[in-house]
Amino acid sequence: MIDAHAHLTDPAFCDLPAVIDRAKSAGILAVVTSITDPADLPKAKEIIAQYSGFVYLTVGLDPKLLSEEKLSAFKAASSTALIVGIGEVGLDHFYVREAPFMETQERHFRECIRTAISLAKPLVIHSRSAGKKALEVLYSEGAERVLMHAFDGKAGDALAAAKKGYFFSIPASVVHSMQKQKLVRLLPLESIMLETDSPVLSPVRGERNEPANLIHSARKIAEIKRIPVERVIDVTTSNAAAFFGIIL
Ligand SMILES: [Zn+2]
Repeated sequence: MIDAHAHLTDPAFCDLPAVIDRAKSAGILAVVTSITDPADLPKAKEIIAQYSGFVYLTVGLDPKLLSEEKLSAFKAASSTALIVGIGEVGLDHFYVREAPFMETQERHFRECIRTAISLAKPLVIHSRSAGKKALEVLYSEGAERVLMHAFDGKAGDALAAAKKGYFFSIPASVVHSMQKQKLVRLLPLESIMLETDSPVLSPVRGERNEPANLIHSARKIAEIKRIPVERVIDVTTSNAAAFFGIIL
C-alpha cells in the first residue's frame, strides 16, 4: 500500500523511527508526506533523506496562511527538485468564511495551481467545506493531474471530477464517516487512492493517526465494494505510484 497523504513533519511524530517501522511491518511501501508551511522544508528534507525510497515529499501551502510572504516562500520551496508533487493546497471555507479572506485564498490557490502546472507536478488538494468550489477553480485553471484528499463535498461532484481523471484519496476515517462511505460507493476503484492524513483523521476518534492504519481504509473500501482487499490494495497502489511517479 502507498499512503498518498500524511504529515510526518508534524510534532506529534516525535517517535518517527518507530512509526516508520510499524508502517513497514503493516505492508506500507511508500508514504507521501506533505508540508503546508514552507518553513517545514528543512525538516522534511531531513526525513526524506533518512527514509529515501520510502518517504516522498509534496510541498504545499495551508489555505489558512494568507500572507504574501508565505506564498512567495511556497513558490521558492516548491522549486526544489526533491518533490513528487504540489500540495496540499486549496480552499478552506470551514475556517475562512469572510469574503475578503476567501478572495485572497482563491487567488493564492490559483497561483499554487499555476506553479504545479509550470513545474509539471501533480496536485494534492485540500477542499474543506469547499469541494465544489475547489473543483471549479481547478477546472478553470486547466489542472489535469489532481488528487482530491479527504474530499468532504458531494459524491456527485466527485464522480464528475473522476470522469475527468481526477483521483480521490480515502482516509482511514472512512470506517466511521458516512460521507466517505458514500464517496467510495460511487467512485470507481480506478479513481481511488488510500491516505491517512496522519496525524489526524484516525480510524479511532481522538487518537493519533499513523501510516500503519492505512489497512483500515483498504478493508472498508473492500467491504463497501464487495471485492477482495487484495484487489483494493493492488489498484490503489498502482494509482498512487503512477500519479506521483514512484517506482516501487
Ligand atoms: Zn493533510
